[in-house]
Amino acid sequence: MSKVYNFSAGPAVLPYEVLLDAQRELADWHGSGMSVMEMSHRGREFMEIIHQAEADLRTLLDIPKNYKVLFLQGGATSQFAMVPMNLLRGKQSIDIVLTGHWSKMAAKEAKHFANVNIVASSEDRAFSYVPEQAQWRCSPDAAYLHYVSNETIGGVQFPFEPTADVPVVCDMSSDFLSRPIDINRYGLIFAGAQKNIGPAGLTVVIVREDLLGEVSPATPTMFDYRVHADAESMYNTPPTFSIYIAGLVFKWLLAQGGIKGIAARNEEKAHLLYQAIEDSAGFYSCPVEAPFRSKMNVPFRIHDSALDALFLEQAADRGLVQLKGHRSVGGLRASIYNAMPIDGVKALVSFMHDFASRHPR
Ligand SMILES: *Cc1c(COP(=O)(O)O)cnc(C)c1O
Repeated sequence: MSKVYNFSAGPAVLPYEVLLDAQRELADWHGSGMSVMEMSHRGREFMEIIHQAEADLRTLLDIPKNYKVLFLQGGATSQFAMVPMNLLRGKQSIDIVLTGHWSKMAAKEAKHFANVNIVASSEDRAFSYVPEQAQWRCSPDAAYLHYVSNETIGGVQFPFEPTADVPVVCDMSSDFLSRPIDINRYGLIFAGAQKNIGPAGLTVVIVREDLLGEVSPATPTMFDYRVHADAESMYNTPPTFSIYIAGLVFKWLLAQGGIKGIAARNEEKAHLLYQAIEDSAGFYSCPVEAPFRSKMNVPFRIHDSALDALFLEQAADRGLVQLKGHRSVGGLRASIYNAMPIDGVKALVSFMHDFASRHPR
């Protein structure tokens, strides 16, 4: 087993079995005599790797044929520009739901390309909830609606999949493949790999085919989805090693019972951790309102923040690492992505009990 339980928000924990598989075939992939890192991306071996990765992802999420799967670079952050460049299609405005840091960042970037209409915001209560859809003020002439299904920093997750009269675009970077979704509801989904898919350097985009082909003028070739779709993600050199590891993670997920299987384990892990916070008689608290608490990123606070440093130090001594909250919000945060074993959450919960009992209020 690996030496520590890594609660980092990203780059984040990978399934240990995947790391061992990758290690075993690192220098010689399937008797090719080469590492995946050394292969031509257009060679027979790598073609097999990328096709299998796409096929397994399609199986996992039951992706319909009229959706393209793209393996891109530039992180989720590039998508904040790439989406408007491709999906405005002559329109002037887009709708965004503001639920925290990453939706704010998306809105900020989109303003370079369009009028941004904030249909709803939870900033009034420090981004601790998701505004009810009945109260959103959507505009009928928006090119699309953008939202973030899981705000990685704030720990706020949509408990529902929104519907709209316009195409729905979702930044799923930190809860992609963690629970069942209905692809047909979306125009486009994107996710940076380093949270729940694989190593940094890869961004997965799933896009409905009919939305492609109408890029804004002067869009760089590399920012045109149609170009990548037509070239099957091989317009230029794709992030080969990251795609390979993502492929191993997809196989691992299939072996866990697919999305249903992993979702059940994610529910169980999140329940254990939130219950420990609730049962601590106020020693720990979670700033997020109960229905919207993320099953991937669990932010929490100690009643006296002066204890944070000691908590982090003693946790690390027990092999529980990367529990510091994001610098913008402080406190603590445990990211418990797909690859975090339930034993890691149990070890954290046990440490939290222990720490609280050693520091009576
Ligand atoms: C991490 C993250 C991003 C930014 O991802 P990069 O790959 O660093 O560009 C965007 N959105 C969400 C929800 C994230 O968690």
